Amino acid sequence: MSCLIAIIGRPNVGKSTLFNRLTESRQAIVDEASGVTRDRHYGKVEWCGKHFSIIDTGGYITGSDDVYEAEIRRQVVISLEESDAVMFLVDVTTGITDLDEDVAQILRKSAKKVFLVVNKVDNNERINESHVFHRLGLGEPFCISSINGSGTGELLDAINQELEVASEPEDLGLPKFAIVGQPNVGKSSFLNVLLGEERTIVNPNAGTTRDTIHTHYKGFGKDFLLIDTAGLRKKSKVHEDLEFYSVMRTIKAIEDADVCFLMIDAQTGIESQDLNILHLIEKNRKGLVIIVNKWDLVEKDDKSTKAYTENILERIAPFTDVPILFASVKTKQRLIKALEAGHLVFENKTKKVPTSKLNKILLPIIESHPPPAVKGKYIKIKYITQLPTDTPQFAFFCNLPQYVKEPYRRFIENKIREHFDFSGVSISIYFRKKD
Ligand code: GDP
Ligand code: GDP
Repeated sequence: MSCLIAIIGRPNVGKSTLFNRLTESRQAIVDEASGVTRDRHYGKVEWCGKHFSIIDTGGYITGSDDVYEAEIRRQVVISLEESDAVMFLVDVTTGITDLDEDVAQILRKSAKKVFLVVNKVDNNERINESHVFHRLGLGEPFCISSINGSGTGELLDAINQELEVASEPEDLGLPKFAIVGQPNVGKSSFLNVLLGEERTIVNPNAGTTRDTIHTHYKGFGKDFLLIDTAGLRKKSKVHEDLEFYSVMRTIKAIEDADVCFLMIDAQTGIESQDLNILHLIEKNRKGLVIIVNKWDLVEKDDKSTKAYTENILERIAPFTDVPILFASVKTKQRLIKALEAGHLVFENKTKKVPTSKLNKILLPIIESHPPPAVKGKYIKIKYITQLPTDTPQFAFFCNLPQYVKEPYRRFIENKIREHFDFSGVSISIYFRKKD
């Protein structure tokens, strides 16, 4: 199960420094593989084999100095709604400020787990100064230094322990679908069309640790869980305008899903905001179906879908093996097709190709197109196997894995996609040493 933790606190307490420290190593790997530019505010943390995500809320503060306090309070409220736990960062060198008191008051009223973190405790003397923070009424503070890293291990241990306690929502073994996209593309309309069929909702069960509702949808021969983030059906008038709010909701929905339907508006085409969401989906290794909605509003001729598709593929490259559907929630055009595509992508994401089949098909291709020799040395790929991971990953065993370059990896990926259907899912390919 995924878990999202928000780092909150006023400016200059060290939120982004802590974020960088916790995400650094892992981020580099993820981003190198996907070619995605580094996200400065949202990232993955791995500690002792456990994974969770963190978001640096400070990165989303917009207003000028005189409005920032109100904005911070709003962010704290949203973070409490949309994340699984929060780290409340305070600064030992300033002590408790009025704004810290305000935030603590909001946090004390919430049922969410709060980690009170006293930052800039760079040396032992400062530990003594950290005792004042007991007054915030949020339990024993964690003393850390984001700059030199001290204390962060204890903090991560405590988070891991908390994650262990958090109980998993019942897993029915059904695919989990999420509908994501920019405001106004038609997400809630789509959800309402699906859920409007009252008879089809067989079991609305709330997730136990977060506010996401997984609605069990059954109808038209389809059976899946629909991730309905708190505000999707019932829009929140208070927060709707905030970028931060939609970012939090989108992240949460993506993390919970197996397959995401990324809805874009046919009238505007694919925009950079859509690409940001797409990269989040890729980064989390979730399945993807693109729905171009409001197709009813587009003046079409027989070349429209082709031209449209080409434009999208160009924008989403290099990950282009993705189902794209032209739909209209209004006229209910191709909605069933979209659900079918979602199921297919889920199958692709979870399927395991037998080793014998992989080798039978790929080894002859490799033989006729071997990796280019490096410094007179020949690279010999001996066999291939799919790893027992929950997303498609393949290991190619060879004598000189370090000499296999990116273009060859791409070539191999394309061959895998040609011969086995992995439409809508990202795949990883590793070259490993075997003499
Ligand atoms: P944010 O506004 O909360 O994201 O804070 P920043 O991460 O930008 O940090 C604000 C300032 O505090 C920067 O100058 C950091 O270098 C400094 N800082 C952050 N963490 C520590 C720490 O653990 N010890 C010390 N001495 N300074 C820190
Ligand atoms: P959300 O913000 O992504 O949840 O978008 P909504 O579902 O609230 O839809 C925004 C607006 O687009 C509403 O006025 C919908 O009626 C309209 N809309 C949604 N889907 C379609 C469609 O397929 N065709 C047309 N013409 N309008 C649509």
